Amino acid sequence: VNPMDKNTFHRCIRDGDLVIVYERHDNMKPIKVNKESELQNRFGVFKHAEWIGKPFGSKVFSNRGGFVYLLAPTPELWTLVLSHRTQILYLADISLVIMYLEIVPGCLVLESGTGSGSLTTSLARAVAPVGHVYTFDFHEQRATSAREEFELTGLSSLVTVNVRDIQGEGFPSEFCGRADSVFLDLPQPWLAIPSVANMLKQDGVMCSFSPCIEQVQRTCETLKSKFTDIRTFEILLRAYEIREARMGSGHNNGASGPLPCKRRQLSPGEATKESQESLHPSVMAKPCSEAKGHTGYLTFARLRCY
Ligand code: SAM
Repeated sequence: VNPMDKNTFHRCIRDGDLVIVYERHDNMKPIKVNKESELQNRFGVFKHAEWIGKPFGSKVFSNRGGFVYLLAPTPELWTLVLSHRTQILYLADISLVIMYLEIVPGCLVLESGTGSGSLTTSLARAVAPVGHVYTFDFHEQRATSAREEFELTGLSSLVTVNVRDIQGEGFPSEFCGRADSVFLDLPQPWLAIPSVANMLKQDGVMCSFSPCIEQVQRTCETLKSKFTDIRTFEILLRAYEIREARMGSGHNNGASGPLPCKRRQLSPGEATKESQESLHPSVMAKPCSEAKGHTGYLTFARLRCY
C-alpha cells in the first residue's frame, strides 16, 4: 500500500501505517502505527490499537479525553513534518516546479540534490503510478536517510536514490535522451547544465533552484547555448488577516461600496437600535505585517530543438 496514494483517503488505518498526528496547524508529527505502542503528549495517553480500523482524518481521544486527528501522509503534510537535514523546498515553490516542468503520470524525472527529499516526495506522487524519479546526492548519509524515508512513506517503488557528484560527473549516461524533466538544487548548477542537455528528451524542460541572483545569472548564461524559453520566477507568499466587521450601508455615496461603521463617525447618541440594525457584518481582509520572505529563484528552460 502506498500511503501517499489518493486511495489512502478511502481506507482505514492499519497496523504499520504511517499517520500524521495533528494537534494544531503548527504541531504535527509522523508516527508509524504499532498496535503495541502508545503516544503520550500533553493531552494524555493514546493507544495506537484504538486507531486501527478508523478512517484517515478521524479524531481520536486520550485516556483524559484530549484529542488529536490522524491524517493521511500526503506529500504536502510530509514537507511540513519531515526532519530537516538540509534546506528544503516548500509547497509554493514545489507546486510551480511540478506545473512548469509539465510532470504527469508516467514521466521520467532526474533530480539533484536529494537533500531532505521534500521535493522528491511530491515529484514521486506526480509521476505515479508508472513513472519514476531518479534522484542523486553526493552526500552518502543523506542519500541513505532519504532512501529509508521513501520506504517509510511507501514511495520506494517510484524513487531511486543514488550517490553521485552531479556537478563533477553529470548524470549517468544510461539516461541520455530519456528524461522528460530535470530538476537541480545545487550550489553551482551551471556545471551540470551540459549533462542536463544530454539527458533531456527533445522538448524536455529543466528547472534550477538557487537562492542568490548571481547564481541565477550564471545559470542563465550557460543555458543560452542549448536552451530556449528561459524564465526565472520568485514566489513570495502574502498571508491576509481576515476579520469580521460591521459595515454601514447606503451612507457614504462612494463608488467603492460601504465603509466600515467607525468611519461613519456615529456619535454615541446616534447609535440607536435602528442604526445598529442598518449595520451588517462583512468580512474584511488586510495583508499580514509579517510576510514570508525570499526562499529562492526558480529558473525554467526548454531544450532547444534542432
Ligand atoms: N531540494 C531538496 C529538498 O527539497 O529537500 C533540498 C536540496 S539541498 C538544499 C542540496 C543538496 O545538494 C544537499 O543534500 C547536498 O548534499 C547536495 N549536493 C551539493 N552538491 C552536490 C553535487 N555536486 N552533486 C550531488 N549533490 C550535491
